[in-house]
Amino acid sequence: MAKFVYDFTEGNKDLKDLLGGKGANLAEMTNLGLPVPPGFTITTEACRYYLEHGDRPEGLADEVDRHLAALESAMGKKLGQSDDPLLVSVRSGAKFSMPGMMETVLNVGLNDESVLGLAAQAGDERFAWDSYRRLIQMFGKTVLDIDGDLFEDAVEDVKRAQGSDDDVDLTADDFKALVDRFKAIVRDRAGRDFPTDPREQMDLAVEAVFDSWNAPRAVLYRRQERIPVDLGTAVNICAMVFGNLGMDSGTGVAFTRDPASGQQGIYGDYLQNAQGEDVVAGIRNTVPLTELERIDKASYDRLLEIMETLENHYRDMCDIEFTIERGKLWMLQTRVGKRTAAAAFRIACQLLDQGLIDADEATRRITGGQLAQLMFPRFASRVDGVQKLTKGMNASPGAAVGKVVFTSERAVELAGRGEDVILVRRETNPDDLAGMVAARGVLTSRGGKTSHAAVVARGMGKTCVCGAEELDVDVRGGQFTAPGDVTVREGDVISIDGTSGDVYLGEVPVENSPVVQYFEGELSIEDGGDLVRAVDRVMAHADARAALRVRANADTPEDSARARRFGATGIGLCRTEHMFLGDRRQLVEQLILAADDQERKAALDALEPLQKQDFAGIFEAMDGLPTTIRLIDPPLHEFLPDITELSVKVALAGDKATEKDRKLLEAVTRLHEQNPMLGLRGVRLGLVIPGLFAMQVRAIAEAAAERRAAGGDPRPEIMIPLVGAVQELEAVRDEARAVLAEVGESALIGTMIELPRAALTAGHIAEAAEFFSFGTNDLTQTTWGFSRDDVEAAFFSRYLDLGIFGVSPFETLDRDGVGRLIRIAVEEGRRARPELHLGICGEHGGDPDSVHFCHEVGLNYVSCSPFRVPVARLEAGRAAI
Ligand code: PEP
Ligand code: MG
Repeated sequence: MAKFVYDFTEGNKDLKDLLGGKGANLAEMTNLGLPVPPGFTITTEACRYYLEHGDRPEGLADEVDRHLAALESAMGKKLGQSDDPLLVSVRSGAKFSMPGMMETVLNVGLNDESVLGLAAQAGDERFAWDSYRRLIQMFGKTVLDIDGDLFEDAVEDVKRAQGSDDDVDLTADDFKALVDRFKAIVRDRAGRDFPTDPREQMDLAVEAVFDSWNAPRAVLYRRQERIPVDLGTAVNICAMVFGNLGMDSGTGVAFTRDPASGQQGIYGDYLQNAQGEDVVAGIRNTVPLTELERIDKASYDRLLEIMETLENHYRDMCDIEFTIERGKLWMLQTRVGKRTAAAAFRIACQLLDQGLIDADEATRRITGGQLAQLMFPRFASRVDGVQKLTKGMNASPGAAVGKVVFTSERAVELAGRGEDVILVRRETNPDDLAGMVAARGVLTSRGGKTSHAAVVARGMGKTCVCGAEELDVDVRGGQFTAPGDVTVREGDVISIDGTSGDVYLGEVPVENSPVVQYFEGELSIEDGGDLVRAVDRVMAHADARAALRVRANADTPEDSARARRFGATGIGLCRTEHMFLGDRRQLVEQLILAADDQERKAALDALEPLQKQDFAGIFEAMDGLPTTIRLIDPPLHEFLPDITELSVKVALAGDKATEKDRKLLEAVTRLHEQNPMLGLRGVRLGLVIPGLFAMQVRAIAEAAAERRAAGGDPRPEIMIPLVGAVQELEAVRDEARAVLAEVGESALIGTMIELPRAALTAGHIAEAAEFFSFGTNDLTQTTWGFSRDDVEAAFFSRYLDLGIFGVSPFETLDRDGVGRLIRIAVEEGRRARPELHLGICGEHGGDPDSVHFCHEVGLNYVSCSPFRVPVARLEAGRAAI
C-alpha cells in the first residue's frame, strides 16, 4: 500500500518529487542533526489524489493518526491539550519553490481552553491570545475563504481605538476582544463556527493547502516559471516554535551568500519578537542579520555554524528560515537559494575555487536564461539632467523605465496596451503577482531584500528596488512623494536601477551591460571585474564541452560581425529578402511586371550587382567561416504595394490612373493569395519565376570569387527554402550547379526542412541535399496548422490556461510532434547520406530547452540571432555535460 506520510526522520533532500522542497530539506536537516522542530510530511501523491478525486486517499487518515501520535509523544503533549497544548504549523511545500503562492496555517491546536493552557505555560497571556487570533485569521482566510481584509480592518479598528499604529502596542485584552470579533466574522461569513476541535482544524488546514495548489495566483506563478501543472504540493505538519515570545525571541531569513551580488558573507534580515510570516510579508521593517550578534551572540554563532554546515553539505548557496524561541535557535526551512544571474555566475566560480564543485557542475548550475539577463542593457553610468528621487535596496538587478502604477490591476491593464509600467507599492503580497509579471520593474517603500517583492522579482529576473523608505506611497491617492517635496503621480515616468537601488524621475538612457561590452570586445577581461571573469570562465568551459556548434542568423555585414564577436562559428541563415526592399522595390516591380523574357532579364541584371555587394560584405565579415545563404523565400506580393491601397488609388484616379498603376494593380490582384504562407513562396518561386534563383546564385558565386581574388576565404553554402519534394530541390540544385560552374566557384547546396512532407521524405531529399537546416518556424506552423503570425495573440493564452501546452511551441520546440519529425528526418537523412550536415535555424535555435533537444538528436549546429549566440553556446555546453 502506498505510503502517504513521512516523518522528518524518514525523508531526505532527494525526495523532492514526493515530499516537496520544504519537506525534503526539513528531513535532510533533521538527519544532519540540526535543530529542526519535529514533524512529518504528507506527500504530493496524496495531494494529487485529493485534487483528482476531491477526497483523501484511503489510509491517509490512519497514517496521519500514527505520525501525529509519534509527534505528540516526542513533544510530551497532545495537539490542543488544554493545560499545555502542542500546536502545529500546516505548510505547503511543492517540488519547486513558489514563494508565498500557496497557503500556510500556524498555531493549529488553539481553542478557548488551550489558549489558557498556552498562556499559563508561556507565562504570557498576551502572546497566547495573539497566537489564537492569528490562527482564526489565517484559518478564516485560507480554509474558509473569507476576505482577509475583514480581519485586517478589525485589527486596524482596535489599533485606532488605542491611538497606535503598531501591533506591538496591543494588549492581551485587545487580542481577546479580537478573538471574539474574528469568531463573529467567521460565523457571519462562513456560516459556521470556528472549529474548536484541534484535529478538525488540522485536517481542514491540510485540505486547504492541497486546494491552494490551484489558487489563481499559484496557477499564474507556475505558468510564469514554467512549473508543470500536475505536480501537486506536499503538506508539512511541524511542531510550532515561537519567535513572538518576547525580545529574546525572534525570527529571520538568511542567505549563506549575498543572493543579489553573490559576494561571500552572511546576509539576511531579523525581526525580534515576531512570527515567521512577518518577515517575508515585509510588514515590519527588519534589522540586518549582523545585528543579531549584538542581540543574541550565542544564537548568532550557532546560526553561522549551521550555515557553514549547510553550504558544505549542499555544496551551494542556501537560504534559511529560522526562529529563536527564548534564546533557542530552530531551523524552519532551508533550500538552495534563488539568486540573481550575476550571483549565479559568481557563486559557481567561488564554489569551484573552493573545490566544492568541479567545472562541469559549475557550468550546469548556470542557465542560458541567466546569461541572457546579464546581457540586458543597463542605465548609462553618467546620468545628467535626470532627477534622482531616492535610493532603496538593490533587490533584483536590471534597468527598468516606465509609467508609475499603484495597483496590480492597473499594471496589467496598461501593459496590455503595450505600455511599460513600474509597479509601485508600499509592499507587495502574493495577490500582486499578475501586476509584477506585467510590469517592467517593481518599487516598494517597505520590506528588506527578503521581502515578498524582492524574492519574487529575483525569481522572475525582474528589476526590483525595495525598501525605499524615503518614499511615501499613497496607493489610494494614486501618488507617492519623495524627499524635496516631489510628488509623482500615476502615469509619470520613473527609472529604477535594481543593481544600485537608485530611483530617478524621468527616463534614464541605457547602455550595454558590461558582459555585452566584454563580448563586443569593448571591455577587457582585466577591466571587467569578477563578474566578467566568471562569465568568461564558464563560457570557455561550455565551449570546450559542447558538441553542437553555434551559428547565427544574420543578413547584414554588421550583424555578421557582431555574431562573430559573440562567438558564432558561421552563419546558419542569411535571409535574402531584405535585399529586395527599399530602393530595390522598383526593380522587383519591374521583374514582376515584365512582359517578356527580355524585360525580366533586364530587371534581374539590375538586381544582381546589388545582391553581389550584399554578399561581399557578409563574406568579408565571416571570412573563413561557413555562410549559409538562403534564396528568396516570402511571397512576391510582399514586395508590391498593398492591394487595398492601390485599388483605392486607381479607383479614385479613374481615367487618369497611370498605365503603370493599372498594370501594377493587375499584377497585385493576380498574385493575391488567401493563404500566402501556404502559397507561392520559397522554392516554388524559384521554379515559377525563371532566372530569379539563378541570379541570386550568380551574385553569391561572383561575390565569393572576388573575395577569393582579394585573398579572402569565403565559404558560401546555398540553401533552398520550403522544399516538400526532392524533385523541387533537384531542379533548383541543377540550375545552381550550372551557374556555379560557369563562375568557377563551388558551394554546398542544401535545403531547409520546414514542411512535414520534407521531414517524412528526408531519405529521398538527402540524396539531393548536402545539408539540412530545420526551419522550425514553418515546421511548427505546418505541423500544428497554426498560423505563426496570428495565433499567438488569438488564442495561445487560453491554451496556456488550459494546459494544452506549457509554453508556446513557437518559442520552445514541441518535442513530441515537431521534434518527432526532426528525429525522423535526422535518422533517414543520415541513413541516405552519412556525411549530411544538420542544423536548425528557426527561432528555437536560441531557446535553451530546444538547444538541448538539438544536442540530443545529434544536430551539428544551432543557428540563432546574434544576441542569443552566447546563450546558445552556454546551453550547448550544458547539454553535453
Ligand atoms: C523557419 O521557417 O524556421 C525559418 C528559419 O525560415 P523563416 O522564418 O524565414 O520562414
Ligand atoms: Mg521558413
